[in-house]
Amino acid sequence: MSGVLRCIWLVAGVGLASGAGAADHGAASHAEPAKTAALAAKAASAAAASVAPKTADVEVKPSSDPKAAGYLVREALGLDTVTNKKLTLVMKSKPSGAPANPRDAAHEAPAVAGGAYKRGTARAGATKPAAGAHGGDAHGSDVHWTYAGETGPEAWGKLKPEFNLCAIGKRQSPINIEESSSLQGPAEPLQFDYRPSSAAVVNNGHTIQVDVQGENTITVRSSTFRLLQFHFHSPSEEQINFKRFPMVAHLVHKNAEGQLAVVAVLLETGAVNPVIDKVWTYMPLDAGDRVRMPPDLLNLNELLPTDQRYYQFMGSLTTPPCSENVLWLVLKQPVSISRSQIRLFTQLYPNNARPVQPLNGRTVRDAQ
Ligand SMILES: [Zn+2]
Repeated sequence: MSGVLRCIWLVAGVGLASGAGAADHGAASHAEPAKTAALAAKAASAAAASVAPKTADVEVKPSSDPKAAGYLVREALGLDTVTNKKLTLVMKSKPSGAPANPRDAAHEAPAVAGGAYKRGTARAGATKPAAGAHGGDAHGSDVHWTYAGETGPEAWGKLKPEFNLCAIGKRQSPINIEESSSLQGPAEPLQFDYRPSSAAVVNNGHTIQVDVQGENTITVRSSTFRLLQFHFHSPSEEQINFKRFPMVAHLVHKNAEGQLAVVAVLLETGAVNPVIDKVWTYMPLDAGDRVRMPPDLLNLNELLPTDQRYYQFMGSLTTPPCSENVLWLVLKQPVSISRSQIRLFTQLYPNNARPVQPLNGRTVRDAQ
């Protein structure tokens, strides 16, 4: 494929006048890399049922900040940039040789993206992001916390009584894993049973999270944990021999007793990651939005490395309330993610990694 990329940004439902307005939904698919990409935007809004949708064409550069692009689209539509906070851009790629006219391209939405768009819209007003980037109420909290400044990691424990483990916990995550001091134990395989699933991509203001439906389980320590969601951090929260990776995916599971087990898949720069490509396609750009993926599109077997040896230790959620008794399973072999895939995430979340926490005598087991 040549380096030409054409993206069509579709926006719908932006013009809702009331603050209780429906969320906007969309989908995006992305080809890469494309230095000379021409992005064309077509936007539509329906302020009320009786009002015909408005459209506007907006030219934006591929390097544009998504938020800035959002403002451009709203401006073109004559919408108030302050009250209309929710905006999801639909990006669609076309191979080179596609019609030069963005309007033509806009009409050639692939069936899958169009279908997802409609499904997303149907649920727009009713769905809110599920609480908790780590399966708890981590991201559902009404207390504002961040990764820098006065509400950053050093302050989390003081923001709310329920967050005090962030300050006083003795088994906190993330940690630096030192290979030389990890305990070489007998083999304890980590058994994955993942299958094609339906999912929704959520921008929760702290990360991009994918809420997963269906029976995806891991079995470890004689217990079966069901996958709830996975999400991303950049850079990786965990360090291996004091080295961070560009990103990490945390796959959050829960067993019947309510215990959490998080599988960390380290991501290093390389080839395009097919799973992340699918997820980014449906990535909502505005905090609070969620976009459903087409049924059974997601297959997390595609995210796992071939070598599934791992480090095992007890830790915590890495976000408030920093709850402990979380079983951490960090896969040793990283999988690849492309530079432009990393960039798409870091444009939204340039740094959402908690600093490493003291081991406090904990053992890290090298589960060969
Ligand atoms: Zn995480």
